[in-house]
Amino acid sequence: MLKLDSHPVGQHFLQIPGPSPVPDRILRAMSLPTIDHRGPEFGMLGLKVLEGLQDIFRTKSPVIIYPASGTGAWEAALCNTLSPGDRVLMYETGHFASLWSQMARRLGLGVEIIAGQTADEVLPQAPNWRRGVDAELIAERLRTDTQHGIKAVCVVHNETSTGVTSDIAAVRAAIDSAKHPALLLVDSISGLACADYRHDEWGVDVTVSGSQKGLMLPPGISFNAVSARAIAASKNARLPRSYWAWQEIIALNKTGYWPYTPNTNLLYGLSESLDMLQAESLSRVFARHRRWAAGVRAAVQAWGLPIQCADPKVYSPVLTGVITPPELDADALRKLIFERFDLSLGTGLGKLKGRMFRIGHLGNSNDLTLLATVAGCEMGLKLMHVPLRGSGVQAAMEHFAAHPGGLAP
Ligand code: PLP
Repeated sequence: MLKLDSHPVGQHFLQIPGPSPVPDRILRAMSLPTIDHRGPEFGMLGLKVLEGLQDIFRTKSPVIIYPASGTGAWEAALCNTLSPGDRVLMYETGHFASLWSQMARRLGLGVEIIAGQTADEVLPQAPNWRRGVDAELIAERLRTDTQHGIKAVCVVHNETSTGVTSDIAAVRAAIDSAKHPALLLVDSISGLACADYRHDEWGVDVTVSGSQKGLMLPPGISFNAVSARAIAASKNARLPRSYWAWQEIIALNKTGYWPYTPNTNLLYGLSESLDMLQAESLSRVFARHRRWAAGVRAAVQAWGLPIQCADPKVYSPVLTGVITPPELDADALRKLIFERFDLSLGTGLGKLKGRMFRIGHLGNSNDLTLLATVAGCEMGLKLMHVPLRGSGVQAAMEHFAAHPGGLAP
């Protein structure tokens, strides 16, 4: 028999930056019997989750739900709005931004990568993977595109491979200042329901997101929040699409149904997640994430290890990337921490394999979970003989004690 649960006692610490731990409440909701997806009860569930999602994305426009991982929703955003050979300007902030641009190329789009040029001593191989989007570079590039050949600008809101949260309002302002008609497509797969996000106010045309991060659900559903301009663009876009096509889904969603079999039990979970987030209020959800992130960063700074994000203005509230000394294999450290302390940390992705690890501090967590996480990291670093300047556990405890959060509303 395949054994998938090798954590027989106590709690496994899933501190990767998504999938994040799923609350018991959501697991229980998902265990309800699967119902007829064309029956009367289903329509009520469909309408509830579709409306609830609009509050989370802060939009009055439709939000499309796909039974797919985030990668599917990336593809949906591109193929619904663009035509073969269209030029897209894609800002490279990290591994996920580059995977999205790889997909755009495969779909037959003309991809132009734009990236910051700041040199970096700590990570010379990936200097632009330590900073956020420089909106001025986008504005400069668009100003030179006088024929408006660039059809879309694509950026990642919270770059999960690095721990950097870019300023999306600034990107919209840059596009507007260049008086350029390009659509703005944003990946907020790991930002949504952790970091402040405003689809309508920031003038985003398509926001791509997923279930397994701030929504505290298992992986398996993903989203496209769209704008009226994006819907208009989809009417003329010629990239081939069938399963991903918005129009049919939006039409049927008006009654709470889908043209295909939706992921019923994940939608039960989504309904519960929306209730939880609404009861807490988004502003408290964001404040909680900011506070946790500050506590974890205090720990990393106390160890004397570099935080991957080099610009405090764009520190991620979702995760913190920790750069390890060059002589240490960060994956060997992660393996030891997993085996000894039942704690999973995020690996270094792409160019950063073995050079860093990522601590997720999102979703279903609390101060003590994060202190245990920091303790697991600190014990692992010591066992690997990494010289530490001081105690991260002490620093995190002091941060959490000095900045009340807790259960009080
Ligand atoms: N974009 C970002 C920012 C992500 O964090 C991820 C996954 O972690 C993806 C895209 C890809 O999503 P998925 O793995 O659900 O397909």
